[in-house]
Amino acid sequence: MNVWLIRTEDFEQKSLSKIEELLNAYDGPISFKCHKNIFLNSISKKGSIHPDEALIQMVNFRKLYKIDPTDFVCLYTNTRLSNNFFTHGDGFRNFIIHSADWGLYTNAGNEFPDAYLLYSNILKSFVYEDYGKMYSHMHKDSSLGCYMDLCVHKREILLKLRTADICDNCLEHIHDKHIDGRIIGQILDAFEGLRKQLLFRNRLQLETKLSRIEITPKGKFILPDYGNIELKFSPLRKSIYKLFLESKQGYTMADLLGSDSKLVKLYQSFQPNKTFNELNATIQGICDPHSMRIHEEISKINAEIVKKLGERVSVNYIISGERGEKRKINYNLIKEKTY
Ligand SMILES: [Zn+2]
Repeated sequence: MNVWLIRTEDFEQKSLSKIEELLNAYDGPISFKCHKNIFLNSISKKGSIHPDEALIQMVNFRKLYKIDPTDFVCLYTNTRLSNNFFTHGDGFRNFIIHSADWGLYTNAGNEFPDAYLLYSNILKSFVYEDYGKMYSHMHKDSSLGCYMDLCVHKREILLKLRTADICDNCLEHIHDKHIDGRIIGQILDAFEGLRKQLLFRNRLQLETKLSRIEITPKGKFILPDYGNIELKFSPLRKSIYKLFLESKQGYTMADLLGSDSKLVKLYQSFQPNKTFNELNATIQGICDPHSMRIHEEISKINAEIVKKLGERVSVNYIISGERGEKRKINYNLIKEKTY
């Protein structure tokens, strides 16, 4: 089952890609994909979007691109909805999410509430047959911290995200629907994971607990104790980083250049569609002592880690070491890694 992410012109592709990455950090049957289609801001001429007009365009979008009726479509926009809702749907697996103004309430990044709202909309659409029924079940008291709280202010949505809770009543509704357990598992993992990631971002300067690194069956590098923050590497960088993860002592540059056969094996596991000769040629290029490629790859690996974990926490995860000395990953508990 796919969820297609689309955007209006005023919502950057970069922001949509961040949301896509975050949504896909939780394994399960639902896959999230950015669609190349951009909704023209003709639907927002008056400075606001009429949700019904946007939903009609989304129905046309489905026809044009032959979107499977079981798939979901979600439009992200920075333009206000004319009914002032933060999110709106039609009961036919189409949603709109208004993303602006989160910055007034959190510095963690808009992508967290944007991703949470989509997962929560998907869950609601599995539990309630139509939009009217869903709306009538929403809690008018928005302080329960339940995903069904009707939130009038954006800060209340952040409260829901901080609790990531579902009240007993709503749990019963979910249970009665006999929804595929893998779907429910993915959504609940996402609620909990997004909560942890938001807290991690907010406490970045105070965080003292270190997370394990886990490599998923799909070859993703995630930090499960930080809510599945993903370190996004190319297959080549995955093999270099895994080589360091598996070594307590680390490698001097000379050691590394002699580890080419190990690297080819690791590279093969992350890039199974390439032939041995292709993989070997890439690794020989990296391990050429006259080239700086290995240094470049290591600094790109480290840059991704600093981007995701911040300067302070990342010192435990980057590949570090002085020139001429062994390079290694400092984090001791990496030996207890779960893969
Ligand atoms: Zn509830």
